[in-house]
Amino acid sequence: MGHASVLVTGAGGFIGHHLVKFLKKRGYWVRGVDIKEPEFEATAADEFELLDLRRWDNCLQATRGIDHVYALAADMGGMGFISAHHAQILHNNILINTHTIEAAKVNGVQRYFYTSSACVYPEYLQTEAEVTPLKEEDAYPAQPQDAYGWEKLITEHLCKHYMEDYGMQTRTVRFHNIFGPLGTWEGGREKAPAAMCRKVAYAKLTGNPEIEIWGDGLQTRSFCHIDDCLEGIYRLMHSDHAEPLNLGQDRMVTINQLVDIVAEIADIEVVKKHIDGPMGVRGRNSDNSRLREVLGWEPQISLEEGLAETYQWIEAEVRAKMARRTADAPPVARQRKTVPGMGRSINMP
Ligand code: NAD
Repeated sequence: MGHASVLVTGAGGFIGHHLVKFLKKRGYWVRGVDIKEPEFEATAADEFELLDLRRWDNCLQATRGIDHVYALAADMGGMGFISAHHAQILHNNILINTHTIEAAKVNGVQRYFYTSSACVYPEYLQTEAEVTPLKEEDAYPAQPQDAYGWEKLITEHLCKHYMEDYGMQTRTVRFHNIFGPLGTWEGGREKAPAAMCRKVAYAKLTGNPEIEIWGDGLQTRSFCHIDDCLEGIYRLMHSDHAEPLNLGQDRMVTINQLVDIVAEIADIEVVKKHIDGPMGVRGRNSDNSRLREVLGWEPQISLEEGLAETYQWIEAEVRAKMARRTADAPPVARQRKTVPGMGRSINMP
């Protein structure tokens, strides 16, 4: 399989960009498709096409001559985004996924990998912070919290039926909070680990120790480093397991603990300020029994290790941004910055 031609959709995004690099290292010919280029470094893809995959003709073009598809394209973001754009997310993701899988079938794609989410799990099993880890079969009776999760569930079924009815091999993963360097860290679509790294970095670099946290910070999650995610994707794609499979860490922490770990990495004391904001479900963790059974493996990278790498990258991004702002500031503002007692003249989040 080393020389198959592969399509990665969403190759301009966080996981997609890393996956392109991972597959290139293993000798695949890779086409990346997205509506945007990767933000933080150049793509490693042999071919990168800017295509809107909501459109059928673009999906046909994207899947032409391809053996394996990794379908990662999605209109998505962290809780702030997902809880506020239900119609847009459902509409766009349904179009992307129904058109991409049908075009893959038309073009004779052999294997199709779909990236679902822990957001498919029912709200009624996630009402406590000390939650029981979620097993794959817990997805039913279905009651995802957001439209984002409903669409993921429907596309899981689409994959299952394309395999049963048309014989295309489909694989489906349910990610649990993937994080790492080269992911969105500001702008509204960033997820909790990146947001916390950014807030701690600003606290460190401005000397203002206050960190805003949505809700009481007692909500729990597990977080999985991107390198483990890539290894899991690859193992699942080449396994015989066609049912949806969890891929995440099974160590649960509160958002407050997440902040404490990042602050310790940054070597600063922070003051947590709890504000109103979307928190998502109260608690969530992955049950990795089936993952271990099917892949003979589980995620290896500790949260501390993964966050240390991610924090360093985000701190460097924040530093660079602050330096640009200072350089771009109009002369008056720059002058003002030097006047004692005037405080900061640059906008901090
Ligand atoms: P991301 O937002 O960084 O990447 C998704 C990419 O899809 C973006 O680059 C975006 O531009 C692209 N896209 C959006 N609309 C498109 C369109 N119409 N045509 C073509 N491309 C389009 O997100 P990610 O974290 O890399 O997630 C990748 C996949 O994994 C997504 O399907 C996501 O739902 C799923 N997932 C991620 C996580 C996580 O923790 N990161 C958790 C669960 C599931």
